[in-house]
Amino acid sequence: MNTSAAVCQQCKDVIQLDPSLVDIAPSAYDTIISALPPATRSRHTAPRSAQAKHPQLAPLPNESFVLLQDSIIRNVPPSPPGTRSSRSAVSKPRSNSQQEAESSTRSTVRLLHLISTRSDIDHPLCRDCTHALLQSLQATAEELKRERDGYIAFANKELRKEKEREAEGLSKEETDKKIEKLKVDERSLIEQLKELEIEEQQLSEELANLEQEESLLELEEANFWRNHNDNILALDQQASLLASLRAAYAADSASLEKLERSNVYNDAFCIGHDGVFGTINGLRLGRVPGVPVEWAEINAAWGQTLLLLHTIARKLDYKFENYRLVPMGSFSRIEKTTGDKASYELYGSGHVGRLLHNRRFDLGMVAFIDCLKSLIDYIKSQDPTVDFPHAISREKIGDVSIKLQFNQEEAWTRSLRHVLLALKICLKWATNGVNG
Ligand SMILES: [Zn+2]
Repeated sequence: MNTSAAVCQQCKDVIQLDPSLVDIAPSAYDTIISALPPATRSRHTAPRSAQAKHPQLAPLPNESFVLLQDSIIRNVPPSPPGTRSSRSAVSKPRSNSQQEAESSTRSTVRLLHLISTRSDIDHPLCRDCTHALLQSLQATAEELKRERDGYIAFANKELRKEKEREAEGLSKEETDKKIEKLKVDERSLIEQLKELEIEEQQLSEELANLEQEESLLELEEANFWRNHNDNILALDQQASLLASLRAAYAADSASLEKLERSNVYNDAFCIGHDGVFGTINGLRLGRVPGVPVEWAEINAAWGQTLLLLHTIARKLDYKFENYRLVPMGSFSRIEKTTGDKASYELYGSGHVGRLLHNRRFDLGMVAFIDCLKSLIDYIKSQDPTVDFPHAISREKIGDVSIKLQFNQEEAWTRSLRHVLLALKICLKWATNGVNG
């Protein structure tokens, strides 16, 4: 074993002791011992680890390092029998230098033990552990310093307070008065507290009432919103219903307007022309040489023509003064309501021999245009803007006589076209807009 080798008691690393510590002079040893603090704990035995690392110390059960004096330390016998060194010592006498070295090692070990005993730290220590230890001790010292400063400050403060209290020095009377006053204050405060407690109770009751009211209102609100939603739904349904009704109304209005514009009279009495003939409902009215229209067709056409005049007059609520129209198809006639109250047939036969009949037919046609003229006059009195291209005067319409006798068939046919045109204008006016 190297004499100057030891083990760090902290990290157990092998360390090399400083030569000054190994070859420590007795005087230096004494100085160190005297500088050590007194033993504060009993540590008569070294830590187990230390014993293991220093087997030469184990066989010395009687050692008591605390009590040993330095003089004794130097006289402690060398390694006990059983160790390697003792065996070597037995086998051959030791030299002086060997004895000195062992002695110094022993004294170093003892010194380290002594230091360990006198402090809380086991020695020796390696450089790193020493460093760490120093830092920790420094931190502890700082902490303690702060603690001490705190204590000092507290003590100073207490001292100052004590002085102030002494300076105030309240007398007993004043103290009693103060106590009385404080008692009065206490009583009034208790009263106040009671009042406040009552108030609190009232407020609690009020709060409970309000909460109840609030829950009722919440219920009411929920109902309201439910109703509101129902109403909105109903409103939507109503709105869609209204929209569909409006659409239906618009469609109906459109069709009504269309129907109003369509003229049932125009359908019932279709006036047109077929070559030189004027026609009513497809029936030719008149005849010309080369186109021998049957009298049956002419008479039927006259029946339609008289019915048309009659219809227009009735629609306009117009009464003929001197005549009564009797529309009876192919055998229609016009009766005079004044004078001789004659009845004129409005149908012919073409028989040249039946002069009397032909004369009445002519008179009937003259009576017809007389009625037509009075109706036209009435319409013109109602609406002066209506224009009739063919004037009527006695038996002539547009300067053409309506009489068949002593007339050319073309002229008669032309006059009948004029009659139909005048009727068409009357019908249009009678069924148009305001008059319809
Ligand atoms: Zn260490």
